[in-house]
Amino acid sequence: MASMIFTDPSSAAAVHHLPFTRFSNGLNPLRRFVGPLHVFSPTPTLPRILSVRSPRSSRFVITASMAIESSAKVIDGKAVAKQIREEISAKVLKLKEAIGVVPGLAVILVGDRKDSATYVRNKKKACESVGINSFEVHLPDDASEEEVLKFISDYNGDPSVHGILVQLPLPSHMNEQNILNAVTIEKDVDGFHPLNIGRLAMRGREPLFVPCTPKGCIELLHRYGVDIKGKRAVVIGRSNIVGMPAALLLQREDATVTIVHSRTKNPEEITRQADIIISAVGQPNMVRGSWIKPGAVIIDVGINPVEDASSPRGYRLVGDVCYEEACKIAEAVTPVPGGVGPMTIAMLLSNTLNSAKRAYNIK
Ligand code: NAP
Repeated sequence: MASMIFTDPSSAAAVHHLPFTRFSNGLNPLRRFVGPLHVFSPTPTLPRILSVRSPRSSRFVITASMAIESSAKVIDGKAVAKQIREEISAKVLKLKEAIGVVPGLAVILVGDRKDSATYVRNKKKACESVGINSFEVHLPDDASEEEVLKFISDYNGDPSVHGILVQLPLPSHMNEQNILNAVTIEKDVDGFHPLNIGRLAMRGREPLFVPCTPKGCIELLHRYGVDIKGKRAVVIGRSNIVGMPAALLLQREDATVTIVHSRTKNPEEITRQADIIISAVGQPNMVRGSWIKPGAVIIDVGINPVEDASSPRGYRLVGDVCYEEACKIAEAVTPVPGGVGPMTIAMLLSNTLNSAKRAYNIK
């Protein structure tokens, strides 16, 4: 189904996120990618993050960063995603050997947006890296809705395709809802179909797929052994693709969940009560140290470009959470890049594999 996966060019070294971001007034080309570009002011100290994992266990260990004056701990999404991809690779091979089936993911791209083309290319590469077949249709900007619907219909009926993504945004002359609703729920690997979201919200019902980014957030908490049951969780943001499903997932895990959004009064006070914070807002460094309860665990979904003259690209990516301040107060925090971003594609691969297994009734 619809896909809105964001670029997170995770590097092994974590970045230093700054509290003094000012907003740029002008439009810039990055706006189309991840939101507005924000002016960046460098500070002198750069923390280095050291991340290791237990050699004998698949459970990851939260490790301290080496930042000065910091008790910072890092949840290394890049390392977890790598491990998940290795697990998927092994399972794909096992499935092929057992019944001769190779999972397949089809992506429909309409138009010439460079960012969309990059996302599609990344998904294709990720599929190849774990042995999942990828199929791609690239239609011109002036393609008709009927053409797109025809491809969806073909993929719906194609047994070698187990997941279908329509890369968003679609050209303005197309009715997005019509197109997305045409993807059969059995192949809705993005998990955005109203039936999947409805099942996620209902007790005693199971969605066929859970949206990739929120699923990645919960997977990080699980793999790092963070207790969710009975904990106070605050989700900042309520979008259909991240905030809302993340809150539903936390509730399913028996957390007591509060959602903070743009109209919330006293967001700082509410967030400060949280044992677990998931932030998906799109505002650089919005969550300051004063918003964080000592010992909280923070999952930062935000990907925000801020100007950085020292970077070859002229910008760098930061999260919604002021990482430098969070490191001094929180028990653990995901870096940006290298936190949630790599998990999103890993979860897409996982959903595609599960779809193929479900099609052949394999546990
Ligand atoms: P979105 O659709 O723009 O939603 C943003 C949410 O944040 C909205 O619910 C909005 O509230 C809320 N919000 C905005 N300003 C706020 C404020 N000042 N205080 C409290 N809440 C505020 O964004 P999205 O698609 O969910 O993405 C959010 C961020 O995550 C972006 O930076 C995006 O790039 C990133 N992202 C990352 C990944 C990944 O793979 N790592 C995947 C998806 C998205 P209202 O509902 O009241 O407007």
